[in-house]
Amino acid sequence: MRILVIEDERKVASFIKKGLEEQSYAVDVSYDGKQGEQLATQNEYDVIVLDVLLPVQDGIETCRRIRQSKVNTPILMLTALGDTEDKVRGLDSGADDYLTKPFHFEELLARVRALLRRTGQDKTSLLQVAGLVLDPVTRDVRRDGTPIRLTTREFALLEYLMRNKGQILSRAHIAQHVWNVSFDMESNVIDVYVKLLRQKVDKDFDRALIHTIVGAGYMLKDEDADD
Ligand code: CA
Repeated sequence: MRILVIEDERKVASFIKKGLEEQSYAVDVSYDGKQGEQLATQNEYDVIVLDVLLPVQDGIETCRRIRQSKVNTPILMLTALGDTEDKVRGLDSGADDYLTKPFHFEELLARVRALLRRTGQDKTSLLQVAGLVLDPVTRDVRRDGTPIRLTTREFALLEYLMRNKGQILSRAHIAQHVWNVSFDMESNVIDVYVKLLRQKVDKDFDRALIHTIVGAGYMLKDEDADD
């Protein structure tokens, strides 16, 4: 899967790139609309993430021109908070979906996956560990068939733990994937969320899946399984 990110804010662009690369996507970044358009029309991408406010050529115009070049790659547009006009103009210009800034990385990832799924390219999105099943697109979570209601952040945390099952995940790694760039590593927010998640995912079931690795972090694992 190859993704093009057109975003002039370097910090946001590198945050998106890093996160997507850690999910095994190949990522190209362009910092202006004109160059982005060139890349989009010269290469084959699976998804394009396109900011609205860009130098040289704005995102709306860039999107329109990419579509004029008969490139049908799904486009996820990044719009400013509360700017309804941008959203409408974005969709009118040929974007498939939009995401309002600021956003958490997991939200962007969910939209990207939904676009990949829509074009039939992401077939393995259902995550399963023992009787725990998570659908990243519908956001449905069940354990042994019982639906589990999670907040957006709890869901993102669980998805990250499940995607990396059997691996020890440090708090720093969890913060990078589940929280945004401004996350304060000194806080105990991750521990609080893990506790909340355990109450929903493990408490009423006969064996725990979320394990604390003392001095290292957390790990989601089915201890009765071989992997
Ligand atoms: Ca921008």
